[in-house]
Formats: sequence, C-alpha cells, structure tokens
Amino acid sequence: METKIIRIDKDNYFNKILNYPAKVLNEGGLVAFPTETVYGLGANALDEDALLKIFEAKGRPADNPLIVHIANIDELDVLVEEYGLLEKKVISKFWPGPLTIIFKKKDIVPDIVTAGLDTVAIRMPSSKIARKLIELANIPLAAPSANLSGKPSPTVVDHVIEDLTGKIECIIDGGNCEVGLESTVLDLSGEIPTVLRPGGVTYEKLLEVIPNVIFDEALINKDMTPKSPGMKYVHYSPEAEVYILEYDELNSQKIFEINSLIKEKFINKKIGFMGSRQFVNKFNKNFTISLGNKEDLNEIASNLFNALRKFDEHDVEVVISESFKNEGMGVAIMNRLNKSAGYKTIKI
Ligand code: AMP
Ligand code: MG
Repeated sequence: METKIIRIDKDNYFNKILNYPAKVLNEGGLVAFPTETVYGLGANALDEDALLKIFEAKGRPADNPLIVHIANIDELDVLVEEYGLLEKKVISKFWPGPLTIIFKKKDIVPDIVTAGLDTVAIRMPSSKIARKLIELANIPLAAPSANLSGKPSPTVVDHVIEDLTGKIECIIDGGNCEVGLESTVLDLSGEIPTVLRPGGVTYEKLLEVIPNVIFDEALINKDMTPKSPGMKYVHYSPEAEVYILEYDELNSQKIFEINSLIKEKFINKKIGFMGSRQFVNKFNKNFTISLGNKEDLNEIASNLFNALRKFDEHDVEVVISESFKNEGMGVAIMNRLNKSAGYKTIKI
C-alpha cells in the first residue's frame, strides 16, 4: 500500500488540507495524526473492519482496548451511559487535554474497541490538528499510539514513518508532540476514582478536583495485575537493554565506581547514558543523550521516547538511565522508564 504523507505547519495551514485524511477515515482506512501526547493511529471507532486494521498494522494484542478520541462534548453522549457531576467537573477542568476517562459504554461502541469490557476509554485531545480531523471526518476516532506494538511511542513523525509506511493510507506530519508521553488514564466507572496509567495530567492536578482519587495498586506493586489491560504488556522497548541507575549521591568517587562497574558488567558492549543534562554531563566520556533540564520534568518527558529510539539509531546496546523523582510528571516518566527497562536497575 502506498502511504501518503501530508506535511502541515501547525501554526499556519488551511483546514482543507485535512479533507483527504478525513475521507480516508470515512472510507474505513487508517490515518496517523499528531496529538499533544504522542502520534495516534486513527480509525473510525464505530467500524469493526477499520478497527481490525489498527490491530493488524501495529501487531497489537486484541485484548488491549483502544482510546476513542472525540472533538466535541456532544459526541460523548452518543458513546457512553449517563454520567454524574464528578465526570462533568473533571471534563470541564481537563478537556481538551492529555486525560483519558473510562466510562460505562453504550452498545454502539463495538466490542473490539473495548476488548469486550463494558467500559470505554474516551479522550478529547487539545491538538488543533487532531480535533479538526475528527470534526471533518465527523466520526469518533479510535487511536492507539502510531508505533509497532512494543516500541516506544512516536513523538516525532519520522518514527511513525519508520514503523507504519506501507501499512496505512496516510500520515499527517504536524511536527513534534509537546507532552511526549501518553495521556493519563482515569477510571471513573467504578466506586473509587482510580488512575490506571500515569500520564500527561499529574496525580497532583487530579487531586485538586478529585480528593479521593487513588492509583491502581498495580502501578505501585509490579506483581499485581493491572486494571488497565494494556498496562501488562512489555512496552516502550528499544533494541538496547535499558537499566535504571539507583544511587544516593553522584560525587566523583561514585562516578568512577559506576564507570568501572559498567565496563566490567557489559564487556565490549556499546554503552549509552540517558538523563537530565546535569546527569549526562557527568558521563561525557561515553555516548550520552540529554533529555533536558533536571528541574523541568515536562521537558524530560517530552524527550524520553525520542531518545530511546535514538540509541537504536546509534547501535547502542546498553542504556544506563537516570532515575527521576516519583512525583508530578516524574510518576509517568518512571512508569515508562521502568517498563522500557523491564524493571532492571543497577544499584550503587
Ligand atoms: P494506547 O492506546 O496504547 O495509549 O493505550 C491505551 C491504554 O488505555 C491502555 O493501557 C489500555 O489498556 C487502556 N484502556 C483502554 N480502554 C480501557 C478500558 N475500557 N478500561 C481500562 N483501560 C482501558
Ligand atoms: Mg501505545
């Protein structure tokens, strides 16, 4: 299949450039499009044949449900059962934006979207290109990240092109994704509001509106089964083996010890270091990728997936990553890092 690439300057474009991808979606095809979190791979959320193509193109396991993207609040009522005041409050505070909410679904939502669950995940993205595309297509779009299953999610269009060229009808290049990590998944369908996946909206921000919100225990204890089916899969894995470095303080003695230990442990392997600018500067005798300023976790988050892919481009075999504070965006960063490392750490 030939994949058409449409380049858009996100600050200066005519909506009609989105007519073609909207038509592809209406005809049951697949379109990769930018959102503020990561690039999404969209299909008509009400068309089973189109949805099957998403799982095929990505190699995604069928028991991993999809997030449905909408552009207007009216579309929500078509898809989900009646909801209460809390949902309304959360929606008005965080939509459009990087928050996915789990609702009780209506029958119109096909089982393949929800992997047979009686709930459905919905998000209204803040990306103008994404919303305009949904509006023009005039259908809700089921859209997982636009990467092959298991690989880091794409935050730049080159990674979408790398993974999906020849497999889908169209890719919209709208520049780099600002948040760079996927949405927070918040389950409001049960008794207690629960975060199933940390992401672009922090727990601290949710607490301001939902005082009793909790984390799914499986996010804290990796031996428990997550409530969110997709969270159990290996994810965000580059070819390189990733290790998270755990230490108390990085003085010159420690840096010497780390360098010696790593040389000994990974004989003849190409090693890379990843972390904040402040961290990687201490290991500059090695191949390093800086994710940004240590004090700016949003910047670190936005560069993480891109960096994981870059190590592969440079044939790095072992990546040693800094570990980040488990608060604010740090929770989502550490969740993705731990998964990409398969929870492997080096303690020193
Ligand atoms: P992705 O589309 O790859 O960003 O992943 C979507 C995430 O949302 C996965 O972790 C899914 O398991 C989760 N998800 C989607 N629908 C539901 C649902 N109805 N209940 C719980 N988690 C869901
Ligand atoms: Mg994904």
